[in-house]
Amino acid sequence: MLKIENLTVTVEDKIILEDFNLEIKEGEIHALMGKNGAGKSTILKVLLRDPHYQVKKGSIYLDQEDLLAMTTTDVARKGLFLVSQNPVEIKGITNAEMLRTSLVDQGKTELNILEFNQELKRICEKLNLPISFIHRDINYNMSGGEKKKNELLHLWMLKPKFILLDEIDSGLDVDSLKLVAQSLQEYYQKYHPSILVVTHQKTLLDSLKPSVVHVLDHKKIVQSGDIQLAQMIFNEGFHGASIIDGRDENE
Ligand code: ADP
Ligand code: MG
Repeated sequence: MLKIENLTVTVEDKIILEDFNLEIKEGEIHALMGKNGAGKSTILKVLLRDPHYQVKKGSIYLDQEDLLAMTTTDVARKGLFLVSQNPVEIKGITNAEMLRTSLVDQGKTELNILEFNQELKRICEKLNLPISFIHRDINYNMSGGEKKKNELLHLWMLKPKFILLDEIDSGLDVDSLKLVAQSLQEYYQKYHPSILVVTHQKTLLDSLKPSVVHVLDHKKIVQSGDIQLAQMIFNEGFHGASIIDGRDENE
């Protein structure tokens, strides 16, 4: 479903990823781990066609289509959805307005406003968000944890088939973390999307149970394994587990 081959990416003329390879099949959950600054967020932003990240070499195919020939809008229409590490605040556009517009764009022209509002309300309740969030400006003046849950509200409404999660667990209190992990697990069981999850924490991996765990270092994936690899990293750290050496990539 997603195939990234020999990808080289630069930001402001600095090489961040080099000969990066990754393949995720339909319905698979993969985890991507690596120390700060390794390039985890970079690969997710490249997938969303963020113009700050230049692809110098390589290819990305999504359902056999050339993703690098697509715009961010095209990619979103294909069902790719990113919960970014720092969700952007959009003042002046409410959740409800954006979601209604997006659903109409998805072809749901017969959208019943009553049902739409009921669905939003139901999801807010499940995510333990106040109902007033329906009419809040997107992520505007929300706390870090509220933003992450607000992104989940979008996810449940838009029903993406390929989800990218960039440290969705950061900024969440213990109860919210459990709730978010459960909600994602429930979404997976219901819709079977493909998921690429970036995390430093165990809670999310314990509930999502990725079939493959990758470690990103020195601009590429240096090791892939099953959940045991993540367990080893949690227990011993990247260096302790001898997965990556001590050399600093940014020096
Ligand atoms: P990670 O998510 O693994 O912590 P990132 O992908 O965010 O790492 O960043 C990888 C490297 O690229 C870091 O050295 C970071 O400073 C740099 N970088 C990322 N985005 C930008 C940008 N827009 N401008 C300049 N440098 C960037
Ligand atoms: Mg990051």
